[in-house]
Amino acid sequence: MEITHIEHLGIAVKSIEACLPYYEGVLGLTCYNIEVVEDQKVKTAFFQVGQTKIELLEPTSEESTIAKFIEKKGEGIHHIAFAVPSVGEALEEAASKGVQLIDKAPRKGAEGLDIAFLHPKSTCSVLTELCMKGKREE
Ligand code: ZN
Repeated sequence: MEITHIEHLGIAVKSIEACLPYYEGVLGLTCYNIEVVEDQKVKTAFFQVGQTKIELLEPTSEESTIAKFIEKKGEGIHHIAFAVPSVGEALEEAASKGVQLIDKAPRKGAEGLDIAFLHPKSTCSVLTELCMKGKREE
């Protein structure tokens, strides 16, 4: 697989608003986008850190996988996203190597980028996202 960098870290939080004083006030980062991703039932907030982003994930419904994650494990790091040139090709390669896929084909994530998740059973227990390289880093 041709991973170029860590595209983002996804962090599950109960409230994005409650986290802004830390990320902006203490760390000095700027939240450049807040977006609701309807089909995942989450609100996302993005901060750029070098080539990598921090993606805060706040559930917008109790059915959200993020709500279930927080219920089980509490707030904290939810997934790691690697940037690849082609999510489709990376998925095919992962599947051919026996990796269990959550998404059999790329779908649109936050910021309109192609994304797909690999199952933690096949990734040493870390929920792993493959993500098309975002425009911002180019
Ligand atoms: Zn993500």
